[in-house]
Parts: sequence; C-alpha cells; structure tokens
Amino acid sequence: MAGIRRSGCRLGSLYVLDDARERPDVNQVPTIKLNNGTLMPQLGFGVWQVPDDEATATVATALEAGYRSIDTAAVYENETGTGRAIAAAGLPREELFVTTKLWNSGTESWGRDNVLREFDASLTRLGLDYVDLYLIHWPRPMRGDYPAIWKAFEEIAASGRAKAVGVSNFKPVHLDRLREESDLVPAVNQVELHPFLSQPELRAFHQERGIATMAWSPLGQGKDLLASPAVLAAAEKHGRSAAQVVLRWHVQLGNIAIPKSVTPSRIRENLDVFGFELDAEDLAALDALNTGTRIGPDPDGFDWN
Ligand code: NAD
Repeated sequence: MAGIRRSGCRLGSLYVLDDARERPDVNQVPTIKLNNGTLMPQLGFGVWQVPDDEATATVATALEAGYRSIDTAAVYENETGTGRAIAAAGLPREELFVTTKLWNSGTESWGRDNVLREFDASLTRLGLDYVDLYLIHWPRPMRGDYPAIWKAFEEIAASGRAKAVGVSNFKPVHLDRLREESDLVPAVNQVELHPFLSQPELRAFHQERGIATMAWSPLGQGKDLLASPAVLAAAEKHGRSAAQVVLRWHVQLGNIAIPKSVTPSRIRENLDVFGFELDAEDLAALDALNTGTRIGPDPDGFDWN
C-alpha cells in the first residue's frame, strides 16, 4: 500500500506513529499516542466561530479533504451542525476523533451533576454515544471548582463515553493542583500556541508529565503571523504557503494543531503539510518569533460572568 512507512519518531514522551496500518485511515496525518493509549491525529479541524447552520457544510468539506479530527465545544454552539456532517459522511466511527469541551460558565458551582448534564447535552447535540476527547474549557481559578469538575471527568472517562479527557487553558499551577487531588493525568492541554506565543516552558512541562500539547489558534488567527518575514522566507524556500509553513512548524514540534477555515481551498491546503520538511534554520527563525504575546485572554484572570 502506498504511503506506508514502518517507523515512527519520538517526540519527548509522546510517540508519533507514521505507520498507516496502525490507524484506520490511510491519509498522511501522523497520530499522537495519548497517555492512556488513545491515538489522536496530529492535525485536526477547529470550528470556533463557524455558525451552526454553516458547520455541516464546512465540516463535510473538511472530512472530504481527509481531516479525521474535529475540535468543537459547547460554547461554539455548532455541535449540532458538526454532528450532522459526521453522520452524513458515513465514515466508520472509529476513524473519527471528536473533541468537545465543557463550558463551565455561569455562577453555579460546578461539580458532578451539572458536569454530567452538560456532557450528556453535548453528546445529544453531536448525535454521538461517545466523544474521543472531552476538555474543561477554562480553569477559572478564581472559582476554585476545577478539581471538582475533574472528579466528574474521571467518572466520564471511566464510563468510556469519552475515550480520553483533558483540559484547556491550564497553566502548570492548575495542573499541579489537579495532581494533588487526582491520579488521572489529563491526556491533553489545549492552549493558545503559535510562533508568536510558542510556550516552550509549558511544552517542556507537558512533556515531563506525559500531557499532549494541543495548539489553539495555531495560525495566530491568520493575522500578522502569516505576513511575518521569517514565515514568508520559509514559504518561499519550500514553495509552500505561509499557513503551511506554520502548521509544519507545529507538526515538527510535536504539537497537535487544529487550524480553522471556512474556505474549501484553505481547508485542503492546511492539511497538506506532510510532503515537506522545515530545516534547522527555518525552525530557528520561527522559534525566534516568540514574543510571548497572547491573542486571547490570560487564563489566570479569565472569567465570563
Ligand atoms: P487559527 O489560528 O486556526 O486561524 C484561523 C483563521 O486563519 C481563519 O479564520 C482565516 O482567517 C485564517 N486562515 C486559515 N487558513 C488559512 C490559510 N491557509 N491561509 C491564510 N489564512 C488562513 O485560529 P482559531 O480559529 O482561533 O483557532 C483554531 C481552533 O482552535 C478553533 O477553531 C477552535 O477549535 C480552537 N480554539 C480553542 C480555544 C480554547 O479556548 N480552547 C480558543 C480559540 C480557538
């Protein structure tokens, strides 16, 4: 079978498989083995800001292009449209990797019952009987309830209705707090990460703990990053687009990336990053872009009530 390579490569504590026979789909997206053995495609499709009535067509385009991992969230209000695209695609469920997130918002204190209620509601909207990954969307440390939420996540993981559970926007201090109260290590921490905010210390921390790093806004939301000279120079050198260079940088760093687009040609372009390699000089030039500047809020202060 064309495209099969037997070897894999080690990225810190995570093993990236590149043997197509070890995953159900034979497209070129490598798989990251999460700390509970679950395999997750290293490149997926994010759907934040895609309206529900457009999500079905957009996710259908992504699935047709070869994406097998979709990242949604209750707060994106497009789980229903996403679920419709998944159902219509008719792909074997085990070929897909679906992530959604708990919107632990509001003034109520979060614990077992309301977490399970929200999880059930997400499954219903998606039309699925399990998700592959369920995340706590934000730590909201000023509320102090994320350890209680994590207890409910333990229960969800044990039930098999989420193949893996993890967190989003957690800092090391929040991960430490979870470790004090639970033996379950998050499989993933989904954080803002792109060359302007490359988070080297957090990535090293994740690696040490066996937590996979999932990059949100991997393209820096397509703004200044894609016009920066270092990115454009590498794009020119490899005959690739700026977006492809940035996504390739994520892949070579060992990140899981979930770029978003609603434009079919870009959706396809963003998946086509496995036929070239950045060299040490390119990687150093992109690494040098890190200014530690966030697009989104600092998780320590973020609350939305
Ligand atoms: P992104 O970095 O993926 O950028 C998306 C934007 O980049 C698009 O809207 C488009 O303007 C541009 N773009 C996309 N492909 C392009 C291409 N090939 N060429 C030129 N421009 C291109 O930003 P994002 O949508 O913020 O993040 C991706 C996903 O991450 C989201 O859809 C969501 O799933 C997830 N996310 C999670 C959180 C969280 O708190 N966990 C927060 C934000 C985003």
